[in-house]
Parts: sequence; C-alpha cells; structure tokens
Amino acid sequence: MTNMFVRNIVSLAKLFSHYHKMAGKSNCIIGEPVPRVTRSAIKRKFSSSIEQNIVLSTDNDTKESEKQKTLQTPPKNSVVKAESKGKVFKKEKTTEQETCNPDVAGPNSKSRGKKAKSEGSTHENLKETEKLPKVIKEKVIKSAKTASEPSGTKSAVPKPEMVIPEIVIPINKPYIKREDGPSPWNGTIKYDNKIFLGAHISAAGGLENAIKNAMNIGASSFALFVKNQRQWVSKPMEDGTVERFKAACAENNFSPHLILPHGSYLMNCGSNDPTVLAKSRANLLDEVQRCERLGILYYNIHPGSSCGKGTREEAIKSISDSINWVHDQTPGSKVSIVLENMCRQGFTIGGDFSDLAEIIQQVFDHSRIGVCLDTCHALAAGYDLATSQGFDSFLEEFERVIGFRYLVAVHLNDSEGEVGCHRDRHASIGKGKIGIEGFRRIINCPRFRDIPVVLETPFISDDHYKQEILLLKSLAESGTICA
Ligand SMILES: [Zn+2]
Ligand SMILES: [Zn+2]
Repeated sequence: MTNMFVRNIVSLAKLFSHYHKMAGKSNCIIGEPVPRVTRSAIKRKFSSSIEQNIVLSTDNDTKESEKQKTLQTPPKNSVVKAESKGKVFKKEKTTEQETCNPDVAGPNSKSRGKKAKSEGSTHENLKETEKLPKVIKEKVIKSAKTASEPSGTKSAVPKPEMVIPEIVIPINKPYIKREDGPSPWNGTIKYDNKIFLGAHISAAGGLENAIKNAMNIGASSFALFVKNQRQWVSKPMEDGTVERFKAACAENNFSPHLILPHGSYLMNCGSNDPTVLAKSRANLLDEVQRCERLGILYYNIHPGSSCGKGTREEAIKSISDSINWVHDQTPGSKVSIVLENMCRQGFTIGGDFSDLAEIIQQVFDHSRIGVCLDTCHALAAGYDLATSQGFDSFLEEFERVIGFRYLVAVHLNDSEGEVGCHRDRHASIGKGKIGIEGFRRIINCPRFRDIPVVLETPFISDDHYKQEILLLKSLAESGTICA
C-alpha cells in the first residue's frame, strides 16, 4: 500500500512536471519551455483511477493549504473558500483544458474531444450561460461548477470556489494618454539609464522569499508569481506577507518598477466561452489587486487566444474589455497590465505587434497598460533578433506599431526554434538561435534600460542563472551600465 502510494506520488510529480511545461504545446495561452511528451502518454497517466482525483499543486500551495483550515476573509470582488488540507485532492485542469473549449476543431481535437466527454455535465450546464449578455451572473457559473464536482469524494470538506463578480464592461470613457518615457510613474521613480538584469524566481514558502532568491543570483530585477499560477483560487494574501515583501524590497533596493509578476497560465481573456472568460476576468482582477497591495507597478499577462472559436477581432475586443473592466474596478490603482508578445502559435493573440497595438488602442487608460517583449517569442513569431538587419527592423516596427513608450519589461530568452517557427521553446542565453551576438545587440540597445530584463531560460540551478546574468553583463560595452 505504501509502495503504491509512493509510486503514485512519483508518477504525479512527473505528470505535474509534464503539464507544467505542456502549456507551450497548446494552441492557446502558452507558457515556458516544453519537453517532448506525447498526448497519449499524458492520457495513459490520467487513466489510472487514483489520479482522477488528485490536485496538482505547487509546494507553496500545499504548505499554504496545510496551514489553512478555516474560511478566509473574502477580498472585495472575489470570495475564496478555504481549500481542504492534504488528503482529498481534486484534479487540476491544464491551461489548455481551461482556456479553450475542448471540442475546438484542429490538430488536437481528438484528445480534446475525449476530455470533453468526461466533463460532459459541466459543458451541458455551461451552454446555458452562453445565452447571457455581457453581464455574467455569478449564480449560473457557481451552479455549473458545483454540478461538475465529482460525487462520492469527501463531501463534508469545503471545496475551493470562485465567486465571479458581475461584469459590466465600461464603454465610451475618456482616454487617458500615456506620456512618453519608460514609465507612467515619472517623479516617483529614479531612472538611472542602466540595465536591470534578473530572472523569474521562485517565491515558494512565502512571497518575501522571492527577494532573497533574487539576491542569490545577483539579480537587480525579477519576475515571480503572486499566487499559484495553475489554480484559479488561492487564499488571500495575509497582511504580514505584504509587509514582509515590501520591507524586503526596500531593504534590498528593488524599486517597484523592477518587479514583474507573471499572471496565471489559466487565464484567457480572449475566450468566447463565458465561463472561462468570467473566471479569467475575476482572476485578472484578483492578481491586479494583489500587485496593488504589494506595491508592484507592473503585472504581465499573456493576452489570450480565440482558440479558433471566434475571430481575432472578437478576441482582441474581449481582452481590451477585460482590461477596461479591471481598470474600472481598481480606480486610483497604479498597476499597469503588461501584455506579452507571443509567438503566433495556434490562435494566440499577440504574436503580431499589431495585435498588441489594437488591444492598447481599445483600452481607455493608457497610463495603465504596457508591453513586455519576450525575445524568444519575438524570434519564433518571425522577428529576426539574431541578425543586425533583423534587429533594426524589429526596433523600427515596434516603434511604429506599438511605440517604445509602452515597453516596460523584457523577458530575455534564447529560442530553440528557428525564426518564424511559431514554437515557444526557450533556450539558455547563447544556446539558441538568437545567439551571443544577438544578445550583445539587445543588451547594448538603449531601449531596454531602466526596465526589468528578466530571464525565463530553462531553470537548471540558481548558480546557472547567476552565470547567465554574468555572461550578459560581460556583453555590455562602454556606455551600457548594468545595475
Ligand atoms: Zn509569459
Ligand atoms: Zn515570457
């Protein structure tokens, strides 16, 4: 029995690791580097009965859920019920399952169709919600979700639940212009004209640990997740966590504009599935509010995907509406939503700079919207950052179509795939198609100063990140100062 339990835990750990990275294969929102795992292998894993009832959660969340037994105080617009501790687990859906309707036609439609069957009752119920207008009633969402809960599991234990607020999209608001310059926060932040290199780092064990981890790799900027990126619901942040995070940032001179949280991989604000959309918007609001409490100014998301179920224009409108709604829900907030460029994979929005420009155009408050340039995604989308000519035309197009005043962050990744491959495969600096000379150009380009420039290269070890940062610093020529 014990052996079986251990075996299952091991297979789950592997499975989680696969899923963690599978996001990059999806036609929808895409994530970070991807291993070669076939869908059939994943299906085989899921066919074991014990695994049907497992929650895949990060260390961080497991610890949190162990501590957590009672109901949490609800935040303003979303209520989170406490997750039960350890023993009863529920299967966490993948990015692909959550963000795209499984019966979407396409190369992966076969396996998606099978998954859809197992969730049949949920989809039947949710079909009703498609008739709703823009105002999405929380009760419909809640009852559909409840119906999808497997019966026979320990029913006495409260399930985590997301309460979706009423969503009324603001229209015809006056535009707020964004001023030229690297940030809308002139006057509050000192700009040094330096390169601020960092990495996406772990906040396991508490958000404040992120600062310590960033210091360990010699980072002067960093990215992190402000809650579990693969669960819709996380418990609210405690005041103590917020205070410790802010104190550690101040103590180690991490200015707020140099910290770039990455949004949940589950979100798809471009979805035309009303349930996914409502949950994505509630999640977007929740994470923006978390950033606000932490004193962070920028919050990075993948724009979304039409999943082939709607047009590009509809997805772009839906993403802009979501951002406008969140802005409306957080008046006076200084948190900017930062759109990441994508690699033109499947139906994702944001591979073409014009996608991002159109979203920005439809957002009313331009002081709270920005762009994060992912160098791997750009190369995979067809912008040849590896050559001098390609880099120049990339700079020209970014300025012409979006405008560098919107660039507030960089994800510095090499790409395993060739120019225009549309594949999201991050590689270590200098080990991919951008190459050392490509990064020399990037590091010495004045466009990327005074903003977080963070590595999302494959994690090998903290020391490896440290070495990559040192390598990048060694590429700096006279006139380029690294913080
Ligand atoms: Zn990303
Ligand atoms: Zn990225």
